[in-house]
Amino acid sequence: VQKVAILTSGGDAPGMNAAIRGVVRSALYAGLEVYGVYDGYYGLYHNHIEKLERYSVSDIINRGGTMLGSARFPEFKDPAVRAKAVENLRQYGIDSLVVIGGDGSYMGAKLITEEYGFPCIGIPGTIDNDVAGTDYTIGFQTALETAVTAIDRLRDTSSSHHRISIIEIMGRNCGDLTLSAAIAGGCEYIVVSEKQFNKVDLIEKIERSIANGKRHALIAVTEHICDVNALAKEIEDRVNLETRATILGHIQRGGTPCAFDRILGSRMGVYAVDLLLEGQAGRCVGIQNEHLVHHDIVDAINNMKRPFKEDWLELSNRLF
Ligand code: ADP
Repeated sequence: VQKVAILTSGGDAPGMNAAIRGVVRSALYAGLEVYGVYDGYYGLYHNHIEKLERYSVSDIINRGGTMLGSARFPEFKDPAVRAKAVENLRQYGIDSLVVIGGDGSYMGAKLITEEYGFPCIGIPGTIDNDVAGTDYTIGFQTALETAVTAIDRLRDTSSSHHRISIIEIMGRNCGDLTLSAAIAGGCEYIVVSEKQFNKVDLIEKIERSIANGKRHALIAVTEHICDVNALAKEIEDRVNLETRATILGHIQRGGTPCAFDRILGSRMGVYAVDLLLEGQAGRCVGIQNEHLVHHDIVDAINNMKRPFKEDWLELSNRLF
């Protein structure tokens, strides 16, 4: 390995910059040349590639988002598009690629590795924590802090006004962000995609607790499960208490990365370069039980499942 390129792809996440910096600085330390690809696979195809130096990644460790930019580029599923992308890399003499992103981004990396024998390493960067083979993705902890802060604020006003609040939290099909934020924020009700949503049961529970004198109810719901505004209307009609839904949305993607994500990004970035130097290809980086690990990308995408924290959900029922 002599020339390594790096890109960020899919949804951006706080801490991606720390990972970029980790890759760039450790690669330079090992005597490699480093290239940055702008706007993910879109930039790879359109040849937006630039050599990076030590100072190219100065003052980014504390910044949210990704200095390289990110993009959705479904065209990358087309083999002809990937051929052009690899040709672009080879033009610079680039011989390896680090991809920071989620499952979708891993897919692109896997295909380039398989089809062209072009060594790629994946680093999990997404606030959703929905990547297999790692306990945490870069950005999850920061998004969690953001969601908890929002819940705290909604609690103040819900409690003052004797109101019910529904908070829609991101995570795609993964309930980790909702579950963690709900426990930390003391939400009474948790709706995640890993569990069948029983609306009747939810409304009955709320009715009972309001009848018992509770001043407010906080309901945390993962995105894509139901229309939270319609749910708010339904609850209001049934319980006869003002009910508001708040969709946290992209607020959760931004902001200063917390220390955990900066450290995780730095460690994973350095580890990815170590793997390339060892001659590894088609691997994805993870952290499991505090240790950095790597798995086959194909295996991670096809066979590995993220375990759902049943015990956390059970615990939340007892804190109710
Ligand atoms: P994430 O990486 O966060 O899961 P996406 O699923 O949007 O986000 O994937 C990011 C990008 O990865 C896509 O826009 C596309 O460029 C690339 N990608 C996704 N799926 C594939 C695939 N099956 N084959 C090749 N490239 C893919």
